[in-house]
Amino acid sequence: MISKLKFIVDNNVGKLVKWLRVMGYDTLFFDGSDDSRMIATALAEDRVILTRDTQIMRRRVVTNGQLKAILIKGDEPEQQMHQVIDALNLDYQFSPFAICLECNQPLLERSKQQVKDLVPPYVFQTQNQYMECPACHRIYWRGTHWQAMTRQLKKFTKV
Ligand SMILES: [Zn+2]
Repeated sequence: MISKLKFIVDNNVGKLVKWLRVMGYDTLFFDGSDDSRMIATALAEDRVILTRDTQIMRRRVVTNGQLKAILIKGDEPEQQMHQVIDALNLDYQFSPFAICLECNQPLLERSKQQVKDLVPPYVFQTQNQYMECPACHRIYWRGTHWQAMTRQLKKFTKV
């Protein structure tokens, strides 16, 4: 078992937020311009910084190893995800739909009966497993969207 990493993603690599959440990692998006605030949050919450900003890499807390930061090199989200997965040896057994893609909240299991009136009838008929976000109350299930994301994730992890 690897330790469950947490991330904070700089706005210059914002596309990584969704994919890390799909993989089940607690991931914050930093949209401010005050790098010190991002660094303070990362230190306080023990998060790995992902950024394209070389200045952050030169900060003392980063160079002395107190704070882990990864300088993202590629332009495409696929290259970027591949770099992160590779650098941190992220678990191949990712846990899709453990975290809300919008709110970064851990999802809760829901029974079929609990979501009866909340999902389209076709989904209700064909799906048996559901998750709900406690913050935005969005319901997740393993439909075609989930399958497409799973395929995409498998591509990221291939060399
Ligand atoms: Zn949510």
